[in-house]
Amino acid sequence: MDYFAYQNGELWAEQVPLSQIVSDYGSPTFVYSRAAIEDAYQRFDNAFSHHDHRICYAVKANSNLGVLSLLTSLGAGFDIVSGGELERVLKVGAPTDKIVFSGVGKQAWEIEKAILAGIGCFNIESEQELDLISNIATKLDTSAPISIRVNPDVNARTHPYISTGLRENKFGVSSLIAREMYEQASELTHIEIVGIDCHIGSQITDIAPFTEAMQRVVEIVDDLEAIGITLKHIDLGGGIGVQYQDETPIDIEEYAAAILQTLGHRQQSLWFEPGRYIVANAGILLSRVLTLKENEGKHFAVIDAAMNDLIRPALYQSWQKVSEVRLSDSEPRFYELVGPVCETGDFLARDRHLAIEVNALVAIHSVGAYGFVMSSNYNSRSRAAEIIVSGSDAQCVRKRESVEDQLRLESVFRL
Ligand SMILES: *Cc1c(COP(=O)(O)O)cnc(C)c1O
Repeated sequence: MDYFAYQNGELWAEQVPLSQIVSDYGSPTFVYSRAAIEDAYQRFDNAFSHHDHRICYAVKANSNLGVLSLLTSLGAGFDIVSGGELERVLKVGAPTDKIVFSGVGKQAWEIEKAILAGIGCFNIESEQELDLISNIATKLDTSAPISIRVNPDVNARTHPYISTGLRENKFGVSSLIAREMYEQASELTHIEIVGIDCHIGSQITDIAPFTEAMQRVVEIVDDLEAIGITLKHIDLGGGIGVQYQDETPIDIEEYAAAILQTLGHRQQSLWFEPGRYIVANAGILLSRVLTLKENEGKHFAVIDAAMNDLIRPALYQSWQKVSEVRLSDSEPRFYELVGPVCETGDFLARDRHLAIEVNALVAIHSVGAYGFVMSSNYNSRSRAAEIIVSGSDAQCVRKRESVEDQLRLESVFRL
């Protein structure tokens, strides 16, 4: 199903014309389709329906409370990486035992908060972190459920900034250290060993790196079993790639079949931490054309969205599809879509054939993951509004920031 499609020459989100959203909420504005999020979640969930599993949505991909509450209603668990994300999932009433806490730099206050909330698992990334969690759990006179993040040393063949499973990355520990840490952990009175985890990178479009990682993980599971340490779950992380341009995205049924085959007869529950897969193609960014100009034969469309709203093109050289919100008979040209920010790196798209005029609206697609969450106030630009569309209903789930909001925490220097 196409969640963003043309009807009578106008682009709609489900049953709402996008021009209506801009009339009501202004631009730039992020719009998410509820049906797109639900369908992606259900597809993932159904692919593993024959094995005990848990989907812990990676909150960092899109942490809007509206999105989190929607996913809670579908039965999702959550993968968090900070005390702030913990607060968000608690706020939407997520079942706390379905929360896993990842990240290489967990702080004492975050660990304490998570233990008190009763989260399902700490995904531990270093020996020091194991000690820290053990000490805090002891102080609180309780027990902390843990998993150790192994770095399976596989090449995810994705953008270097989002590849995390190579030996030289900062994430996780080697298989050898992991084995030692499990033995150490089994001696700790306030630590409960529950699982093992890995996460090898993001926007991975091949199944092979996942099965290689899974193979390394089950070898550790078997070794631990042999010395009397039985794990209840295997958490394979996220990283499943989606289609932005002409990539062949991973077929989730094939992914599930390959993972289940590698799991074989083993009884562990399978946990996953997909972020991008659930939300990337569920979101678009609406923006208005401010100016059209030509420099040295190159045509620029200056739009009211910029790198502070969507940094993926500038940071990862990502390609995002762009389309006209209203089909127009203006002369189509190849445009470079740029924002008003004072940087040459401030582009949203290059060489796009578009029929647009000043004041026209454009939609930048596939921005539901790592879009709004990576936005900033660079150039003192207020962050965009966020809307969730469900059928013919459009709900504002984050108001547009005001300049006043931006200035609230600052003060002039007293001379
Ligand atoms: C970022 C991250 C994810 C989610 O990655 P996606 O590519 O969005 O699926 C899952 N787990 C961990 C530990 C992460 O850091």
